[in-house]
Amino acid sequence: MTSLRSELIIDPTIVQENINYLKKLIPVGSKFMAVIKSDAYGHIMENLLEHIDDFVDGYGTVRIDEAIRIREASNKKILLMTGVYSEEDLKIASKYDFDLVVHNSEQFDLIKRNNFYKNLWFKINTGMNRLGFEENEFLKIYEEHLKDKKIVLMSHLAASNDPKKHSNKEQFARFNNVYSQLSEEVSRSIANTGCVFNYPDHSYDWVRCGIGMFGGYIGTNELKTAMTLRSPIVNIRKIKKGESVGYDGRATANQDMTVATVYIGYADGLAQNIKDGTIVLVNGKKAKIFGKVSMDLTTVDISDHKACNVGDFCEIFSPKSNINNISIPNDLISYDLMIRIKSRVKKTYHN
Ligand SMILES: *Cc1c(COP(=O)(O)O)cnc(C)c1O
Repeated sequence: MTSLRSELIIDPTIVQENINYLKKLIPVGSKFMAVIKSDAYGHIMENLLEHIDDFVDGYGTVRIDEAIRIREASNKKILLMTGVYSEEDLKIASKYDFDLVVHNSEQFDLIKRNNFYKNLWFKINTGMNRLGFEENEFLKIYEEHLKDKKIVLMSHLAASNDPKKHSNKEQFARFNNVYSQLSEEVSRSIANTGCVFNYPDHSYDWVRCGIGMFGGYIGTNELKTAMTLRSPIVNIRKIKKGESVGYDGRATANQDMTVATVYIGYADGLAQNIKDGTIVLVNGKKAKIFGKVSMDLTTVDISDHKACNVGDFCEIFSPKSNINNISIPNDLISYDLMIRIKSRVKKTYHN
């Protein structure tokens, strides 16, 4: 047997299909920005770019080194979604022709000092209270410095995946109240994946989608998870009713059982707090986590699996078993599950 490893296999055709699905939801005229911060949500950004460049209108990222790596592969628009914080980074942004978010007065001072009025996106705070100018603060800057400039007004929703939350409506109202006081030259962008699903009429000039491309959005069954996280079984044992499995004996058998031990643990990036009963696939058939996830191993109930052998794979999530089957029952989010996979997991592209 070759040496056993946990594997992360990424299928770029699924990302393409998900992008096409999302693009059908947005009105004609809205441009599609692929948000690929944090190594494309763990999908190996460099490999992904060649597969999606023809499908998208631009890219959004956060760290400047990632933006440079995107520029090496694409001539499309690249937005630094939290802007720059130094003269040095402003020079880099200029050299590589990045778009910049300006979200506070320190950043705007940097822009003014360098008379750098190119490709600017002004972020206003409409209720998330994380980044962005207050409305009046921005309007004052606009009147004094931006009236003849082609800018994008942007904001970000705090609860876009929950259409019942009133905060979304309030955020749209605050956003459009500011927008209505600007010239027609100004473009708008507020939508992330959740907004595209729940409020497609607020897609405006640019949507900024991340999680939907990768199939981790919770509000739909139409998108497939583009990653397969799988690991081989390294041991199978029968246990008797009343016996417990793993650390602290969290899981106790209430009948005779068969338990598979899988070669993946929290050192591979699997969440340590995954609960008993969480569904995974073994040889394509559902099985349940049984016992605490340990550093290198995870135990799974395969009592109703007939032909199961050491070396067979357990899929934690995959196109066939959505990542939200793991995130939702464990109070986790798909974003975090995607980006936490460690380097000792063998990562490959395959379709
Ligand atoms: C991450 C991010 C997005 C993408 O959000 P998803 O929910 O992944 O679609 C959009 N805009 C900004 C500013 C972001 O930071």
